[in-house]
Amino acid sequence: MKRELKFDLDAVFVEDGCADSALATRVLQSIPRDVPVTHIADAREAARPESGAPDPFGAGKRRLVIARRKTPFLMPCPAGSSKFACCGYLVLTLASNCPMDCSYCFLQEYLADNPAFQVYANFADSFDELDRLCANAHGRTFRVGTGELADSLAFDSITSISRDLIDFFSARENLTLELKTKTDEIENLLAMDPRGRVLVSWTLSPDVVYRSSEHLTASPAARIAAARAVLDAGYRVAFHFDPLIAYPDAERDYLLLIDELLDVVPPNQISFISMGGLRMTPRLRGAARGRFPNDPKLCGEDVLSADGRFRTFTPLRLSLYRTLAERFKKASATIPAYLCMEPASVHEHVFGATPARPATIGERLARS
Ligand code: SF4
Repeated sequence: MKRELKFDLDAVFVEDGCADSALATRVLQSIPRDVPVTHIADAREAARPESGAPDPFGAGKRRLVIARRKTPFLMPCPAGSSKFACCGYLVLTLASNCPMDCSYCFLQEYLADNPAFQVYANFADSFDELDRLCANAHGRTFRVGTGELADSLAFDSITSISRDLIDFFSARENLTLELKTKTDEIENLLAMDPRGRVLVSWTLSPDVVYRSSEHLTASPAARIAAARAVLDAGYRVAFHFDPLIAYPDAERDYLLLIDELLDVVPPNQISFISMGGLRMTPRLRGAARGRFPNDPKLCGEDVLSADGRFRTFTPLRLSLYRTLAERFKKASATIPAYLCMEPASVHEHVFGATPARPATIGERLARS
């Protein structure tokens, strides 16, 4: 069935050997008739930046490439580091890049050399990797997400990969799937039974940040409404306040956003929250400011920190963390919370406690 897409799609490329895959069939049946489809020998050609385009990264987001993934699907979260108090997240890379366009998105640097939106025809091979992980893990529980190098649901209306994932994870006691999104693309989810094994998480920002910086995403109100709908359908839900952006009325706006969230989603039904400050390497900062020269949220008070990233001036960042953490604690003292890409000292300052080891946090979040 042809679908009306929420995102622009200029072209589809299908790598040789993928044309008969279930994924290619689904995509080609769903895209509008006027989107040109080209068969190519090597997907890397179509994934590269378009030479001569005024915004090669933006143009890449509008090209969909169906390819075979030749490297493992499962890996530790690339944001993880021994310098940070990490959350033990495992990343399943089933797609690369995202049709939405947040001005601060780290993919502008990470995927600068291959910006096309890629989906992997052999994605079901990832299930073998996950079964091998479980077979060797002796009773451990893992939280596995697909939303690190792509939004988990952005093109789900044409790939329907969420259905395969939910089928797989709903039958695995020691795995929790996290679908991370800024969309309200939940139609496939509502047709499935997650059996308690699937968590859907939304990144939330105040309306003013959504308008200035989160282009083509669903509005914060639409994300919260979608969270309520999947909660009622048996999914667990979580929320990421990341990046937290410090601007003159930020504290007021984030508290209003939390009130709006808690009016719709009861605090005792939130599996966890995460927070992370705006952080950009010099290369990302240059790329972001070049692509979005009028976004004031990219020009706050930041300093170059020891890990080589520009971060919001520490007192501003810590004050925002504490304000949000206290608001959630007031709503329910038992909502698990963690910080993304922050050292243990910041964690202690915000939560008044030493963070647990990444693997322990990962297991707790997978079960919560
Ligand atoms: S929704 Fe996420 S992945 Fe997509 S552009 Fe925004 S930050 Fe990047």
